[in-house]
Amino acid sequence: MTIQRPPCPKCQTTTMLARITPGPAGFDIRTFECPACDFIHQIAVELVDPMKSADTLAWFQGELRAPA
Ligand SMILES: [Zn+2]
Repeated sequence: MTIQRPPCPKCQTTTMLARITPGPAGFDIRTFECPACDFIHQIAVELVDPMKSADTLAWFQGELRAPA
């Protein structure tokens, strides 16, 4: 399964996947880091049955944290 890397919301640079952590039931939390401005972009990805349509993927804006 290909992991899509979203563009940085601030500078549109393609982010790098930093880690995937288990989220609430049925969700993975994917953390992306922008190599250009260190922006942390977190999204919750619904884990769907592969037999179901990929169109059912739900994306949510995660809590954004400024770099220390
Ligand atoms: Zn950026």
